[in-house]
Amino acid sequence: MLTGTTFFFGGFAREQICIYACPWPRIQAAMMDEETLTVGYREWRGEPRKHSEAVAAGAEQGDCIDCMACVNVCPMGIDIRDGQQMECITCALCIDACDDVMERIGKPRGLIDYMALTDEESERGGEPPKPVWRHIFRPRTVLYTALWSLVGVGLVVALFIRPEIDITVAPVRNPTYVTLADGSIRNTYEVRLRNKQGEARPFELSVKADPEIRLELEGTDGDIVTVDANAQRLQRVYLIAPPDSAPAGAHRSDVRLWVEDTESGDRASRETIFNGRGTD
Ligand code: SF4
Ligand code: SF4
Repeated sequence: MLTGTTFFFGGFAREQICIYACPWPRIQAAMMDEETLTVGYREWRGEPRKHSEAVAAGAEQGDCIDCMACVNVCPMGIDIRDGQQMECITCALCIDACDDVMERIGKPRGLIDYMALTDEESERGGEPPKPVWRHIFRPRTVLYTALWSLVGVGLVVALFIRPEIDITVAPVRNPTYVTLADGSIRNTYEVRLRNKQGEARPFELSVKADPEIRLELEGTDGDIVTVDANAQRLQRVYLIAPPDSAPAGAHRSDVRLWVEDTESGDRASRETIFNGRGTD
């Protein structure tokens, strides 16, 4: 059964996101020029279409029989006969639909077709369109191909050199610190450990700061936790400074939390703050 949510995300919202949120039509529009092949309607051949006022007035009819097949198949719900529109995703379904119609009524295919603006001008003047390869192999398209290939190579390289381990640290600030029974100052942190590898890994946590600050993990005696494959683990971490240490008396001290994959040696770190009493 279709629920309202199904309808929203399956129909209406998809088109609205394609039209208003997707950056591709803007990128595509910026790269197009008058030689770019795109889906278009041979208006000089199709008009006046059946049911138009011109036909009703007795003018000779064009090839378009106004069957609406091209509009009905369009996933974006547009009428390509109105000209190029930003909503068009160049899926070419209207080309196939119209070619079927043209075959059935015994007219040449291609009333809707891939064409360039310069072809339109030639065809209107009775000239044949340029061969497709002359639209495709041009300095501009070669340059774009090279640039997009570079972007693609960059993305692949980034994928291969991305770190397999990551850490984020969120200090718990309510309260900013706790004074323990022996006078030590304790700060708490919510630490997210990410393992991007396909197998579980032992991660060792450590702190780089005043050597007197020590690290403890909630729920475990040691400083090593296991993070599942392709998963992240939320681990509560305590940093504790002895009562007479500099960080305990200072208002705030910089510290860095490190995580190390004890098998591969991969490391990652995040800086954060240790809050003391602020009395020194
Ligand atoms: S499918 Fe072809 S013939 Fe039918 S309305 Fe569209 S352009 Fe005209
Ligand atoms: S190419 Fe696709 S999106 Fe564009 S008008 Fe034709 S059917 Fe619609």
